[in-house]
Amino acid sequence: MSAGRLGSADFVVVGGGIIGLSVASRIRRRWSDASVAVLEKETRCGMHASGRNSGVLHAGFYYSADSLKARFTRVGNEAMSEYCRDRGLPLDRCGKLIVATRPADVGWFDELLERARVNGVDLRRVDRREAAEIEPRARTVDQALFSPSTSVIDPTSVVDAMVEDLRADGVSVHSSTRYLGRDPGSVRTDRGRLTAGYVVNAAGLHADRVARDYGFGGGLRILPFKGLYLHRTTPGPSLRAHVYPVPDLQVPFLGVHLTKAVTGGEKIGPTALPALWREQYEGWTGLQLHDLFEIVNTEARMFVSNASGFRHQAWRELRKHSKQALLRRASELVPDVEGTHGWAWGRPGIRAQLIDVDRKALVEDFVLEGDQHSLHVLNAVSPAFTCALPFAEFVVEEIDRRLGMP
Ligand SMILES: Cc1cc2nc3c(=O)[nH]c(=O)nc-3n(C[C@H](O)[C@H](O)[C@H](O)COP(=O)(O)OP(=O)(O)OC[C@H]3O[C@@H](n4cnc5c(N)ncnc54)[C@H](O)[C@@H]3O)c2cc1C
Repeated sequence: MSAGRLGSADFVVVGGGIIGLSVASRIRRRWSDASVAVLEKETRCGMHASGRNSGVLHAGFYYSADSLKARFTRVGNEAMSEYCRDRGLPLDRCGKLIVATRPADVGWFDELLERARVNGVDLRRVDRREAAEIEPRARTVDQALFSPSTSVIDPTSVVDAMVEDLRADGVSVHSSTRYLGRDPGSVRTDRGRLTAGYVVNAAGLHADRVARDYGFGGGLRILPFKGLYLHRTTPGPSLRAHVYPVPDLQVPFLGVHLTKAVTGGEKIGPTALPALWREQYEGWTGLQLHDLFEIVNTEARMFVSNASGFRHQAWRELRKHSKQALLRRASELVPDVEGTHGWAWGRPGIRAQLIDVDRKALVEDFVLEGDQHSLHVLNAVSPAFTCALPFAEFVVEEIDRRLGMP
């Protein structure tokens, strides 16, 4: 391996997803004289979760008030919307309707409204007639909730614009450069060694492994959950607003929903099925044996103990795992989607869900661990795309605080 081909950087960010790119831009702002490098193993940035998500800018009413998710979602939605407007990127402030598919769902509306109130988010209770005006295709029992600030963007164009901005700002974004490990004062990559000052780990599905190289993330492991989508392939009626079910607040997934795409069209999904290895996008392609054994072992233990309702979640998701089942689920929200013709599977996304191995529990909130040499972003799960800009400012404050530590 040749040494020094990549030179050196005061700050090295591992991972060119929305989190790594946002952190790099905020580091650049805070320490304008410092050199910043982003390492991305793929040929371009945003090829994993950041380019394979629903593109929804969430409003911030799902999360309990003491969480980082609650702290950054509302402001993140505003900041990302402003970024899209400034950069001329697609943004649709279409809003979201949360419908009740059974009378018991209405009981959860009070909890969601209370969370919205505490988090300072606009969320309104609407009756059936008002719901039909917002989204005529949706069906609800008795009442619904309406979130006017929920929006949709095109995640890939946001990532591309950020890479362009970073490069224009003097940040070195190295694609096709895989972080392989840590040496004192440097990182090893498949393109040589890079002398590194402060290291920020934003490696998404691989963040737990990078963290362990630096002595962090002990007792934490990433468990990948796959999200599949169905896309409408034939012209049909278009949605005015996103339509979501009432979520199960015990699990960190929002349930199968219908989203309006910013570029037109609509999609149904995602599922949340445990994957067998971190990047298991399609069948057995890209099989990682070591990953498979580690993950299947963890999943088996979670399944047997039913920790965090894992067994129920897995069964429930398995039952949705056909086109017909997914459409049936979606038709509880929007009846006219029934019938399997006119829908095709789109690109899946994989959630980098963290689990606490000792407690055998899914971790709900974003996690940061680090010291004066490195900081590790773990569990950057949904709605991390929405939160990315203010969350990155928080990461930079945390770096600043740690750099000042003796
Ligand atoms: C199905 C699905 C739907 C979602 N929907 C929404 C939504 O509607 N709204 C929302 O706000 N959020 C949503 N999310 C969540 C959001 O997409 C993620 O939280 C966010 O993209 C995480 O960004 P990231 O930068 O941490 O991870 P990633 O985008 O995965 O980026 C990590 C990067 O690190 C790189 N990397 C990993 N290892 C190495 C290495 N060794 N060397 C170099 N590079 C490396 C990877 O190639 C990758 O590009 C969704 C996620 C999924 C999976």
